[in-house]
Amino acid sequence: MADYKAPLQEIRFVMNEVFDAPSLWASMPRLAERVDPDTADAIVEEAGKVTTNVIAPLNREGDEQGCQWNNGDVTTPDGYREAYQTIVEGGWNGLGGNPDFGGMGMPKTLVVQFEEMLQASNMALGLAPMLTAGACLALDAHGSEALKEKYLPNLYSGVWSGSMDLTEPHCGTDLGIMRSKAEPQDDGSYRISGTKIFITWGEHDMAENIIHFVLAKLPDAPKGPKGISLFLVPKFLVNDDGSLGERNEFSCGSLEKKMGIKGSATCVMNFDGAKGWLVGEENKGLAAMFTMMNYERLGVGIQGLAAAEASLQSARDYAFERIQSRAPSGARNPDKAADPLVVHPDVRRMLLTMKGYVEGGRAFSTYVGQWLDVAKFSDNDEDRKRAEGLVALLTPVAKAFLTDRGFDMCVVGQQVFGGHGYIREWGQEQLVRDARITQIYEGANGIQALDLMARKVVGSQGKLYELFAEDMASFIEKEQANPALEPFLSPLAAALERLSDVTEHVLEQAKDDPNAPGAASADYTNLFGMTALAFMWAKIVVAAAPRTEGDSSGFYTGKLKTARFYFQRMLPQTVSLAESIRSGSGSMMEHADNEF
Ligand SMILES: Cc1cc2nc3c(=O)[nH]c(=O)nc-3n(C[C@H](O)[C@H](O)[C@H](O)COP(=O)(O)OP(=O)(O)OC[C@H]3O[C@@H](n4cnc5c(N)ncnc54)[C@H](O)[C@@H]3O)c2cc1C
Repeated sequence: MADYKAPLQEIRFVMNEVFDAPSLWASMPRLAERVDPDTADAIVEEAGKVTTNVIAPLNREGDEQGCQWNNGDVTTPDGYREAYQTIVEGGWNGLGGNPDFGGMGMPKTLVVQFEEMLQASNMALGLAPMLTAGACLALDAHGSEALKEKYLPNLYSGVWSGSMDLTEPHCGTDLGIMRSKAEPQDDGSYRISGTKIFITWGEHDMAENIIHFVLAKLPDAPKGPKGISLFLVPKFLVNDDGSLGERNEFSCGSLEKKMGIKGSATCVMNFDGAKGWLVGEENKGLAAMFTMMNYERLGVGIQGLAAAEASLQSARDYAFERIQSRAPSGARNPDKAADPLVVHPDVRRMLLTMKGYVEGGRAFSTYVGQWLDVAKFSDNDEDRKRAEGLVALLTPVAKAFLTDRGFDMCVVGQQVFGGHGYIREWGQEQLVRDARITQIYEGANGIQALDLMARKVVGSQGKLYELFAEDMASFIEKEQANPALEPFLSPLAAALERLSDVTEHVLEQAKDDPNAPGAASADYTNLFGMTALAFMWAKIVVAAAPRTEGDSSGFYTGKLKTARFYFQRMLPQTVSLAESIRSGSGSMMEHADNEF
């Protein structure tokens, strides 16, 4: 089985050369005092070591063993506890966390690189730090000072882990119909009752305490999503001196048996009057939870990208090692029985398609990270507001597009292996199984697409879309005279025009067809993602072109050639997507029930 190796050169290239993140950090005083290029580089280097040497080797065995449930306790696969401890000792849980409570306060442009390495090395284990970091974000943004002081330091350190408890047997997407209840108590706490299902890392043996962020309804709550509140519910109650007290009134009823991420515990959690504390305001829990969910959504997008990177690494190695048939243009290895797979045009198509999505996707996740940094750290109100708008627009694209393509690319990687991709030995079938969930949880991709199309684009009357279109247009304008971009600028401008035109079209359709946004949404998300990746590839060309002379490693020349492949063989899909969207909702909505 090919082992994952953190792609440090790729990561440094995107962070430092494509996005010049160090200049961005230096331009914002609150970041400039925290991070410099050397610190960032040392973090990337160390993340590479931990994920490659400690976490990745557990991935296969964790999948084989899975977690074990025994009378409410959950035992993790061999090595997980120790690996989690390494994550704790390195402070990785709190990499982007608030320094006032023990976080490291690092910028998202750096944190996304760690997240990619972590998820590519072992998605099942990687979910634990990811959920904890998301929980910290919600608590930091909405919790009272007392709750923050009591819980954040141990969550940032990872001595305690976090989980999010939204889903119930009868409600996943539509949380407004949830049944879990919260009864106010005289001491200011609440008693939480109800059953939550599918709760990732809801119970395990890696951390000393598990802090659940639970959505529930107060007795007099309004109906629907406006009647949901968020509660912090610890597994062990925490005494005033910070020591752990008695066990809270809830337990893990069972573990789900599932298709992938088998090394992670997916728990049924039964709350039987558990003691909890309100986070944020009563009935405004969904908004508070969204702080966590938005963070997780980019994180899940990165999981899709990460799985595809892991798949690409082993597919590329395999394509050079496995010999099968002769090259159409004449033998490459006349002294051997056959040529390596990589000589065949169709195998090259598969590898380059993977490179196109993975390397473009890495740039896209860093691009979103860049706007998250501006939104959080800029002192300029206007810049911050613009960045917030871009983050709102791009988050569903990052979640849905990167995971849809991430899964597809794992299937393509599996295809490179032929039959050997279908059996366990090479790890490709695990990647396919693991990546599949990324399209479903954290809001299924259909819901992400609807969020992009209906809430963000139509809901803002195109204003949020304009922010992205302006950024792309100003890049095209600025690079007009760049000779390296000569073959790319005109198809890039055409792709932007196509996306803008389709956006206008759906805005018009939506005026008198309530089904128009939903009908357009999945194709639109695809179209948006493909166009955004073309933008990313053009940025990659700008950074790589000056470095190609004497590039004997092929790193930079390879970037220009992959960009050409992306523009010639992948971007044209946007033409058919646009055509499909323009056809409107008619062909979807005209079926009567008995015609399905
Ligand atoms: C392994 C795993 C781990 C998970 N971890 C967690 C966790 O840690 N915490 C947690 O709270 N939950 C977790 N979940 C739950 C997960 O987030 C939900 O399964 C997901 O949100 C979808 O909800 P659902 O399964 O009820 O599907 P449904 O809501 O029933 O949706 C079914 C399908 O219908 C579509 N659909 C629904 N409504 C609409 C609409 N209005 N418009 C268009 N399409 C629609 C959806 O896109 C989806 O394709 C996990 C699930 C799994 C399998």
